[in-house]
Amino acid sequence: MALEEYRRKRDFSKSPEPAGDPKAGATGGTRFFCVQKHLASHLHYDFRIEHRGVLLSWAVPKGPAVDPSVKRLAMHVEDHPIEYGTFEGVIPSGYGAGIVMLWDQGTWEPEAADVDAALKKGDLKIRLNGVKLKGSWALVRTRSAGERSWLLIKHRDEWAGPLDIAEFAPLSVKSGGDFADILAQDNPAIWQSHRPAQGGDAGAMFARIIERALALKAGHAPDAESAAAGPPTRGSAKTPAASAKGKAAVPRARKAGAPKARARTATGNTGPTGAASAKTRAAKGTTARSAKKSRAR
Ligand code: MN
Repeated sequence: MALEEYRRKRDFSKSPEPAGDPKAGATGGTRFFCVQKHLASHLHYDFRIEHRGVLLSWAVPKGPAVDPSVKRLAMHVEDHPIEYGTFEGVIPSGYGAGIVMLWDQGTWEPEAADVDAALKKGDLKIRLNGVKLKGSWALVRTRSAGERSWLLIKHRDEWAGPLDIAEFAPLSVKSGGDFADILAQDNPAIWQSHRPAQGGDAGAMFARIIERALALKAGHAPDAESAAAGPPTRGSAKTPAASAKGKAAVPRARKAGAPKARARTATGNTGPTGAASAKTRAAKGTTARSAKKSRAR
């Protein structure tokens, strides 16, 4: 396992992602795992587990499901550096351009002694101890759809249930924020001319998120957006618009667990203007939607 493919795809002079040192992660002892929610050309969740000094990685288009009857497609992708596991931020351009949220993190342990043999066999049983994901899981390679295609499946235990965990707990375990908060910390204007996704669901999401991030940074986000759980945000000092007005980038107090956050996630409503433009873009994207089909990366 190595990081050649990971490095070949990226220009580290243009991306904030870590180049990575394979020696940084020692084997044995506690093993790290994380799930990064990644809005790029399409929304997907990157499931990563530490093994032999790198993060073995699968892109899960619909995200992990804690319902054992729901098997989620997980495309095996290139190994990532250990340091990548706590990365959250904005990839301005190039491979994976978009927003990365640290959606879950914790530790994992194998349920069988020989991880390499389990991977080779295509049937790895693991225990997760994350903030959101816990208990026994399986990664199973599917024979029909090629070598890179696996399924991520929750085993029946006390941590399983009919809950939609991605919808129930949509926010970052690192910053407490959503995609707009993460973008507002960085440069919300970065994709005004050229977005990572134009049409379809991802394009509509980007449109809403950019609009809200710009409003957050300017210090006048709609009240309806104030319900997302999260700690006070940093980085307001580098906001010319916000400091000019003497306001913090995200000045409002937020109420943890308020139902409005979920309502917004479900509807994508960003206030009258945002809702109207999102609808228009969604309508425009309808024809492109059928052609888009999942190409998670
Ligand atoms: Mn990704």
